Amino acid sequence: RPRVLSGIQPTAGSFHLGNYLGAIRQWVALQETHDAFYCVVDLHAITVEQDPKVLRQNTRVSAAQLLALGIDPDRSALFVQSHVPEHAQLGWVLQCLTGFGEASRMTQFKDKSTRQEAGVGVGLFTYPILQAADILLYQAHHVPVGEDQRQHLELTRDLAQRFNTRYGKTFRLPEPYIVKDTAKIYDLQDPTSKMSKSVPAGVVELLEDPKRSAKKIRSAVTDTGREIVYDPENKAGVSNLLVIYSALTGRSVESLVADYDGKGYGDLKKDLGEVFTDFVTPVRARVAEYLDDTAELDKVLARGAERARSVAAKTLSRTYDRIGFLPTG
Ligand code: ATP
Ligand code: MG
Repeated sequence: RPRVLSGIQPTAGSFHLGNYLGAIRQWVALQETHDAFYCVVDLHAITVEQDPKVLRQNTRVSAAQLLALGIDPDRSALFVQSHVPEHAQLGWVLQCLTGFGEASRMTQFKDKSTRQEAGVGVGLFTYPILQAADILLYQAHHVPVGEDQRQHLELTRDLAQRFNTRYGKTFRLPEPYIVKDTAKIYDLQDPTSKMSKSVPAGVVELLEDPKRSAKKIRSAVTDTGREIVYDPENKAGVSNLLVIYSALTGRSVESLVADYDGKGYGDLKKDLGEVFTDFVTPVRARVAEYLDDTAELDKVLARGAERARSVAAKTLSRTYDRIGFLPTG
């Protein structure tokens, strides 16, 4: 079976609709066909300041959400990144292979560093290189992510290729797995920028009160027209709502447009609020159950880390050997 690897940050506690539709939904589906490794990337979370208590809680909340959304820990290795030290170790090796100019071209760093008010750490700058290590350690064939990660996947492939050329074939070159329809879910208050954990304006969170989500959906920014049509260029807000509606119900955008012919934005928003509430209600209940027994949850994560480590350790030791590091006796 081909391998798949992906990760998600525990920074906000709750995941948002973009995380689910752009990434996690694919993680769940790929369990059927792939040998899957999924991690909560706490090392990435500390690229911005974290309160230790909150980080610990958010890491468990993140794992509970992945389980509640359908990650099956008997089939997939579900783990926490810091439990597998090989990530940081390979990350250093890859940093030494990355050009400063090359890293400077990452557009996400430019976006995030300008948004950040407190000082910007070097970790935020080098995080795509650690992410490359996350992927290459598992010799992943596919990496299910949203559109915003495409450039980082390109960097990962470049670094793998560079290492392979210099030291002999060591890493598989991974392919991004990006589902076009839901690759970029937009912020409800600013339908020109992506819904994002770090910009909490028009973000629909899975763990907030669904009444609050429904209200956010009702007050989503749309245009001054009245017709419900799919036109991302001129009607970004309405188009975003249609994409979300379609993804949550499995109905095509065209059939939704046909159904809402003659109705107004208010009808669409109200109905989508209900669709979302129906989707999220059982998920929230399952999250609460997993969080009710953190001892069991921690055990699941320990088991996942053990599985992950058995793969990661092999890749790292081959890598160290290729570089010329002395064996450990
Ligand atoms: P941050 O803004 O802090 O980077 P985030 O919302 O991007 O947070 P991540 O944990 O970085 O969340 O991303 C987890 C996964 O969700 C990644 O695969 C990412 O591509 C995907 N993703 C994030 N936002 C969206 C979005 N708006 N639409 C589709 N996919 C998304
Ligand atoms: Mg992100």
